[in-house]
Amino acid sequence: MKDFELEPERNQLPAVRLPGRLILELTAKCNYRCPFCYCVWHELPCLAGAELSTLEWRKIIGHCAASGVNDLLFSGGEPMLRPDLRELLTFARSILPAARLGIFTNCSLMSEDHFSFFKELGIELSTSLPGLSSYGRMTGTRRSFRRTLAWIARAAELKRPLAVSLTAASANRDEFADMFAAAAFSGARMIQMGAMMPEGRGRRHLELTLTHAEWEALKNRIRTLPDCGVPYAFCDEMLCECREQPADLLKKFGNPAWRPCAAGTSFGVIGPSGKFRSCLHAVQERELF
Ligand code: SF4
Repeated sequence: MKDFELEPERNQLPAVRLPGRLILELTAKCNYRCPFCYCVWHELPCLAGAELSTLEWRKIIGHCAASGVNDLLFSGGEPMLRPDLRELLTFARSILPAARLGIFTNCSLMSEDHFSFFKELGIELSTSLPGLSSYGRMTGTRRSFRRTLAWIARAAELKRPLAVSLTAASANRDEFADMFAAAAFSGARMIQMGAMMPEGRGRRHLELTLTHAEWEALKNRIRTLPDCGVPYAFCDEMLCECREQPADLLKKFGNPAWRPCAAGTSFGVIGPSGKFRSCLHAVQERELF
């Protein structure tokens, strides 16, 4: 791949018409081993590709800017494992001064210094809180939830509160309402909740999945909690039906009222291999250039 050149990019018709909102999966590497991780390369390792160089990602970000993208979420894997993350974010901000830029991180590598840097660049931060007593089991680590909660609280203190995702599974079902309360009272900006999907690594951990009825019961439990002033949302998708799925999974997790979503048109993903996929769960890749 050649070095980054913005002007020539503007004169080319892109191979994929990029949506305005993109997730960049900067790396397939992660220091956690969450059994619910839906990253597609846990099913199809070829989708992880070879790690792209800094120049290759700069070229992709330049292409996004030239294509009118104005919302970029840097994710992974764990994006903070990329030693060039600051360089890539600085570059993105320099060519997209008004764009919404964000990072989704497990917060394990967060520091005060990182925080100040993200704040200065106007980067929005999101994280996940996969459990309290179940944190180790839900992340495949020996870590505790306390570090994540401390960062949620610190971010609120610094007036850059984090968006927090909670994934419900059989291992954390009994403490799911406590997870919600912990994130809310620590200062989360908003809380997004969904049931574990039998995708990615989750396909090998079906014992952790919930049924539709169990997920509905958890939602009702959250709705009955006292209002703590933090906006929240539920994601009801339990299986991505834009891709072909085995009949047994469709029967258990499918939605009979399913309709094609806006994946690939209003949002999309550029994977660790530098190719375009229509969503986080999609396994079809298209060349970007
Ligand atoms: S869910 Fe996130 S933190 Fe967990 S293994 Fe996957 S990429 Fe890593």
